[in-house]
Amino acid sequence: MFKKLIAVLALSSSFMTIAADNLILVSIDGLRWQDVFNGAQMSILEDKDAAARPQELKADFWHDDLQQRREKLMPFLWQTIAKQGALIGNRDQGSNMSVANPFMFSYPGYSEILTGIVDPKIDSNDKINNPNITFLEWLNSKPKYKNKVAAFASWDVFPYIINSERSKIPVNAGFDSSPETDSYSQLLNQLQTEIPSPWHNVGFDAFTHRFAMHHLALNKPKITYIAYGETDDFAHDGLYDQYLYAAKRTDRYLQELWEFIQSTPEYRDNTVMLIVVDHGRGAQLADWGKHGAKYDVGSEQVWLAAIGPGVKSAGTITTPQEVKLNQIAATALTLLGEQTSDFNPAAGKPITYILSK
Ligand SMILES: [Zn+2]
Repeated sequence: MFKKLIAVLALSSSFMTIAADNLILVSIDGLRWQDVFNGAQMSILEDKDAAARPQELKADFWHDDLQQRREKLMPFLWQTIAKQGALIGNRDQGSNMSVANPFMFSYPGYSEILTGIVDPKIDSNDKINNPNITFLEWLNSKPKYKNKVAAFASWDVFPYIINSERSKIPVNAGFDSSPETDSYSQLLNQLQTEIPSPWHNVGFDAFTHRFAMHHLALNKPKITYIAYGETDDFAHDGLYDQYLYAAKRTDRYLQELWEFIQSTPEYRDNTVMLIVVDHGRGAQLADWGKHGAKYDVGSEQVWLAAIGPGVKSAGTITTPQEVKLNQIAATALTLLGEQTSDFNPAAGKPITYILSK
């Protein structure tokens, strides 16, 4: 009897260490693995068309030593996540990850991340409600997570990708105002109308981030998705300097999220953070800004970072078999202690390489 009790206790405690109670999923639109793992690239950095002030940019991001160079771009990722968590996607180290969809642009990539499947009919970035169910929607249908799921996105297509009409998940996207009535939210809302974005369909990540942080502090959602977008838009504009500064700001946002999690009783030590991208882009000066199947520049190549309970403290992990973007949904659900087969048996399998059990 006593032995049995011990066994039950051991079993339940081991389950407790596997499952996180909360998830923060972050995506950084089209941020290249080359920059994340190797730091800023000299051939682009010193190009006068890609960088307005190459000398300043070099001072900010260049170092001859690879480790120091990548820490200049993403200090939190390299000093904290790489030590306490896991990374996949450094092709120079046999750590390979790619999209499974044949399109290599945003909506198909995000749909693959969130649904765990490739739907060949998702073949554009048009504002069409996703006919497929995301794991966010599935979780929101369960009593444990009901009305405790929220999404924040710089790109205004996200309400359609998440199908907020059907899923009932609140999605603050593009230039949406916060529904909160406190003075801080009202100020953010006002500033967002007063600070012009360079893009007609993408708001600044600062607003996305501040709305998300404030919602986390006020409402303590269990599942939060934050989709930053500036990196992709600055890349399409051919501005490597602005792209790098955006990547560095995003790294700072990740740090802020993690420090908030670990200093908040509801989230401390029971919240996992997953960071992914929707596609890669070209590796050379001539094509680093481009992505999509028609360019054939390696834009299928993506990466992931993870930190929190259930994730190995392993740094960059070599992958005997290439990891796919359609495995993110199952990985998130596994970390939460949920069964992927209950969500969608056709979804990609969990990325066991990063799981501590
Ligand atoms: Zn994208």
